[in-house]
Amino acid sequence: MKKSIVLLATLIGGAVMANNESINQVETNKTVAIVIHGGAGTIKRENLSDQQEKDIKAVLQQALDAGHQALSEGKEATAGVIAAITILENSPFFNAGHGAVFTKHGKHELDASIMRGSDLNAGAVAGVSYTKNPILAAEQVMLNSPHVMLSGSGADTFSKLRDLEQVENTYFDTKFRRDAWKEVDRKTKAKKAETASADDILAAEFKFGTVGAVALDQNGHIAAGTSTGGMTYKAWGRVGDSPIIGAGTYADDRSCGISATGHGEFFIRYTVASDICARVRYQNKSIEKAADEVIMQELKGVGGDGGVIGLDPKGNIIMTFNTAGMYRGYKKGNENVVQIFGDEK
Ligand code: ASP
Repeated sequence: MKKSIVLLATLIGGAVMANNESINQVETNKTVAIVIHGGAGTIKRENLSDQQEKDIKAVLQQALDAGHQALSEGKEATAGVIAAITILENSPFFNAGHGAVFTKHGKHELDASIMRGSDLNAGAVAGVSYTKNPILAAEQVMLNSPHVMLSGSGADTFSKLRDLEQVENTYFDTKFRRDAWKEVDRKTKAKKAETASADDILAAEFKFGTVGAVALDQNGHIAAGTSTGGMTYKAWGRVGDSPIIGAGTYADDRSCGISATGHGEFFIRYTVASDICARVRYQNKSIEKAADEVIMQELKGVGGDGGVIGLDPKGNIIMTFNTAGMYRGYKKGNENVVQIFGDEK
């Protein structure tokens, strides 16, 4: 008897809580939207062949289509984010999943995070080595653990227990990333330095390649996610902004959703993703103005290279970067855009 009362109270409480937990009572909005990035950096035309440009744009399009399809079927914003990011993680072109950069010790340690704007629930993993799709592990942390972030071998063990596909660390290898790693290694050893300088790390790559997606679903809810291999030659255990909620990823239905890419140490210190959303929420700025202030003024002023993608509950989309280029695109209604270079408008 007692038990059933408790159960009933829990059920009622749960129902009430579920209502309260939705922090934004938005009207059902049939217009869905998704915006993605595949990293920002010194991406110049002279560094990419026509074929490479075509191939990379094709994968970006595939990711947009998959995310948009999920949203059009009425799935939640998180499903749109996951659909897009898993495609980018599985592509060798991007610094996430297969194609991730090498650490100083010639291995891969991957970071990812996801956040839901309807209730501010979030999940992240840092430094996973064997989970094929880190964004799925981040989602599992959000859905099936009481925590927000798991790291290292614990995060891999958790993802295995959640039945996510495990791979050898070498699965993430690509020749392009190995060459970049060798280049920094050579320079560092030539200087007999303990660790490479930030300049060496940045020079070794003509792009970063982190991936991210932000989606708006039919119910007007926002979600954002980011996945990365981090930075070439990073020290053991180094964690960048991508798995840090508020730095590399943020989503709040009351303001906006953001996924960032760039020199993570700056993005952490400037809490880039949540700062943009805070400007929208508390200063009533448009998402465009807020992103411009943070990326083109705050970060640019201190040498924080990179960019963000994002959208607000009305479906206003931004793709803002202070670098030469950013792999990027969005799909909303009849609009479909895929771009790489800074001069593509
Ligand atoms: N933000 C990532 C990091 O610092 C790198 C990137 O976006 O390319 O780990």
